[in-house]
Amino acid sequence: MIVLQDLSQKLIKNSNQRRILSLVRQAKKTTKAEIAKCLKLSIPTVTSNITLLEEAGFLRQSEGADSTGGRPPAVIEFLGDSYYSVGTEIKWESTDIIITDLNYCCVARQELAVGLKAGMGSVIQAMEDWLERSIAALQLPAEKILGVGFSLHGIVDEESLCIKFPFADRWFDFSRYKNRLKWPVFLENEANLGAKAELEIGLAAREAHDIVFLSINQGVGAGVVISDHLYKGRSSGAGEFGHTVVQNQGRRCRCGMLGCWEAYVSVPALEESYPGGRRPAAEIFESYERGEAAAVRHVDEYIHFLGLGIRNIMLILDPDYIIIGGEMSLYAHLFQDKLSSVLQESLRPIHPLRHILRISGLKQEASLLGAAMLPLESVFNLNNRIL
Ligand SMILES: [Zn+2]
Repeated sequence: MIVLQDLSQKLIKNSNQRRILSLVRQAKKTTKAEIAKCLKLSIPTVTSNITLLEEAGFLRQSEGADSTGGRPPAVIEFLGDSYYSVGTEIKWESTDIIITDLNYCCVARQELAVGLKAGMGSVIQAMEDWLERSIAALQLPAEKILGVGFSLHGIVDEESLCIKFPFADRWFDFSRYKNRLKWPVFLENEANLGAKAELEIGLAAREAHDIVFLSINQGVGAGVVISDHLYKGRSSGAGEFGHTVVQNQGRRCRCGMLGCWEAYVSVPALEESYPGGRRPAAEIFESYERGEAAAVRHVDEYIHFLGLGIRNIMLILDPDYIIIGGEMSLYAHLFQDKLSSVLQESLRPIHPLRHILRISGLKQEASLLGAAMLPLESVFNLNNRIL
């Protein structure tokens, strides 16, 4: 099989082209003079690069209107549907997959009934089958897809394509699967991708530079962004706040330790500790909304522990925002005010009061969209954004 490796490298030859493309994408429509001024480039340099980008299909030039009667400058327009990207989030029981255009708009999406439980080979096969069918139905030529980004629940070394799944003894070598698909592949941890998506198109876009994205699902992970850069740490394992201890000799965590934050604030932790036996999160929050005493007490205890961990993060990193994402983002609006009060009260002696809590507007899609962003990073000059 021919693998369309480094497609973006072939399409975009130099950094000036990336900078120009990024600018036109943000502006949607602009002129050569504006590009030259913004990027401090000469008009001939802008003109030659615009021609190459137009040939590659990213841009279109058209005659503009000039009310002064002079020769109108050509309008440079970004073509968001000139290329596409694929994002996928592999979970234990299922796999979400999305095809987006260059503006991150969804053109196809599916939940595949195959997850890691069935093995990576089965997941890749199911993805390949769905992609073949979808791009045929959409009449997309394969070379219009720039790559496939993978969101994975585990520690990810994006360069060696190795993954340390939670509590596994060894690193999993993904590189043996990379040629199974026709396109270049990119990997990243799911919480890190949630943070990327929030920074690029979510509520932190153009507003914040330091954020912590809390992914609260079956486990609890965090993506840490410092000065617009993802902070991954020496072994790519930064942000594992779920395994910091919040209770001495507390509940047993999946990692084997006692009292980890995850054992109190993950979705299963909320469900399984319900008085009288396990209850689904959706039901617990319905009862909480109705003000039923047992549910209110249970959620109040949950808020207490959530606040403890968020306070620790706040004291260590002092970010612009801490964003609640993952499955818990579906319910967090019900207790956001109470959690904010608990936090502000506990931080009052140390920190000036600030409203740092946010709920992900991208909800459970944040990580999937973040995965679709991975192949576009080199095209849009967003690379090298890991500290
Ligand atoms: Zn733990």
